[in-house]
Amino acid sequence: MKCPKCDGELKEETYQGLPINRCNKCSGIWLNYPELEEVEDKVWSDEELKGTLEFNPVKSALNCPLCNSVMTKFNYRYSDLIIDTCPNFHGFWLDSGGVERVEKLMEEDKAAFERKIRVENQWDKHLAFLHSPTFMNKVRDLLDI
Ligand SMILES: [Zn+2]
Ligand SMILES: [Zn+2]
Repeated sequence: MKCPKCDGELKEETYQGLPINRCNKCSGIWLNYPELEEVEDKVWSDEELKGTLEFNPVKSALNCPLCNSVMTKFNYRYSDLIIDTCPNFHGFWLDSGGVERVEKLMEEDKAAFERKIRVENQWDKHLAFLHSPTFMNKVRDLLDI
């Protein structure tokens, strides 16, 4: 396959057990359609919680290396990482280092989410305490009712 970005060739290789296609000139990576999700799932597999994949999609200057259709570029999950995708669901184009950024962003999102859950759990405990009989009795004692 020809690289959608430069005049290089996309060569098949394996990235952490996943088959990918990397350009021998610009090191950009072409992922077949399910592979982007597989990269993510290695880090965080809770699909419901990841948020919008394709944020702010616009027409790309690149063409799909498989069907030559004009691709759509978008901001990956509200980040500044730009990914191109084929309208016929052939795959995703990531510039050099893009796959590593996907992994890093997933890790950050997962950590932020877990932090949020911890805070919410503490808040729930706090609320439970405010409604607990012990606390209500103390309030009654204080108010003498
Ligand atoms: Zn290239
Ligand atoms: Zn295509």
